[in-house]
Amino acid sequence: MALLELDAVTADYGPIKALHGVSLKVEPGEIVALLGANGAGKTTTLRAISGTCNRGGRITFEGRSLRGVAAHDTARRGIGHVPEGRGTLVQLTVWDNLRMGAYTRTDKEKVSTDYDLIFGYFPILKERRDQHAGTLSGGEQQMLAIARALMARPRLLLLDEPSLGLAPLVVQSIFEIITSINADEGVAVLLVEQNASLALKIAHRAYLLETGTVAASGDARTMAADESIRRSYLGY
Ligand code: ATP
Repeated sequence: MALLELDAVTADYGPIKALHGVSLKVEPGEIVALLGANGAGKTTTLRAISGTCNRGGRITFEGRSLRGVAAHDTARRGIGHVPEGRGTLVQLTVWDNLRMGAYTRTDKEKVSTDYDLIFGYFPILKERRDQHAGTLSGGEQQMLAIARALMARPRLLLLDEPSLGLAPLVVQSIFEIITSINADEGVAVLLVEQNASLALKIAHRAYLLETGTVAASGDARTMAADESIRRSYLGY
């Protein structure tokens, strides 16, 4: 059974139809990249999954339908959404942001050991733990956003453009951390990324969206070798 399955998913913003029937799967433990040009519907696909936009079609997570499930309950079910722009609470400290991330947890006694786990992946956040999130660098804020989502112990992370506006070395380090978290903790990742070549390096499989539908899909190596994908999205 797939961890996540979208079947003919539609989404709209009032009169604007953003998704016209997207079908895709994420298997347990996979990193799946969602690629496409500006406006293709990548962000909207993540929003449809997390219940933060008006959606139709069928979405199942761990075999259960997400129809009518509100965003905060989607998080409780095990889906962590790190939106573009990161969504950290800038007036709160790093530490308080992480505590907020764990608010859905029922196993409170295990939360304290998870801080150590998270600080193991993101040692800089340990150094900065009493600092307000708003004073962190862009890369540190992205790390905090991912760390905060992980505090809820998701089985699936939805990551929207984690590389946006960050220097190449910072991006490389964030992608390495995402790969380790996926490999060590078994957290599956659905990754929206403009930087297609980078996304295809860490993803197992990928889907290419064009104007709200899936135009191509396959394993990441095959997609990276595809002539038209290379020309249109990888720039070589
Ligand atoms: P980008 O890479 O530029 O972020 P994207 O592939 O993530 O693009 P979406 O943000 O999902 O694309 O947008 C899909 C379509 O929905 C676009 O035509 C966009 O203009 C429209 N759209 C997105 N958000 C809204 C909104 N809040 N209100 C109205 N239309 C929207």
